[in-house]
Amino acid sequence: MIDFHCHLDLFPNPSDIVKTCLDKGLYVLAVTTTPSAWTKSNELGMSAERIKTAIGLHPQLAFERENELPLFDSLLKNNKYVGEIGLDGSPELKQTWVSQLRVFHHILNSCQKEGGRIMSIHSRRAVSSVLDCLEKYPEAGVPILHWYSGSIKEIKRAEDLGCWFSVNPAMFKSKNGLNVIHNISPSRIITETDSPFTGENGNPYMPWDVKIAISHLSEIWKVSDSEAERLIWNNCNILLRKI
Ligand code: MN
Repeated sequence: MIDFHCHLDLFPNPSDIVKTCLDKGLYVLAVTTTPSAWTKSNELGMSAERIKTAIGLHPQLAFERENELPLFDSLLKNNKYVGEIGLDGSPELKQTWVSQLRVFHHILNSCQKEGGRIMSIHSRRAVSSVLDCLEKYPEAGVPILHWYSGSIKEIKRAEDLGCWFSVNPAMFKSKNGLNVIHNISPSRIITETDSPFTGENGNPYMPWDVKIAISHLSEIWKVSDSEAERLIWNNCNILLRKI
């Protein structure tokens, strides 16, 4: 199974989580929210081939951590994975929008200069702006829109720009989430949890709860759970080979 967007370093007991992920044979992309969090987070999965740690600067922190961009750039040289990055157009973040845009442009430009990276991207209430930015940096790498919640129309535009989508168990619980998943090309879908920020009945999802998403996808695709899992592995392999 693949959890292509989780915050391993934000669990209270990350080493236990890593151990269970390895026992279960999970492939994990551990995203970070600031460049300064990368080194410690990377230590968690350093010895495991199947755990990758991405360098991020979350849009909610862009305003206060813009000064970490030089650190971002230096870490980027030796790292294939970037995230969580992106834009957030929520009203409470409106005052930080200019800073968010500056940071996102900087990151995409750096990724492009380095020859392209695999990027896990946040786009809440900001899909068209995210796509506008991606359009300006066509060599920035492979964009994966994490927890896409935009319009159906923009899914097509995103796919035309080469975007992939990571979908999580929470998306299957909302009408819009389900509608989105039905409209993404199956060959562009991989799984994630965004844990520990998502959950059920007060308990956070664990990275291996991607199995909930796999099971829902198998119903939508009308295949068995194991076939759905195989298709997602296949998608992921295609995606990773691009960089
Ligand atoms: Mn996240």
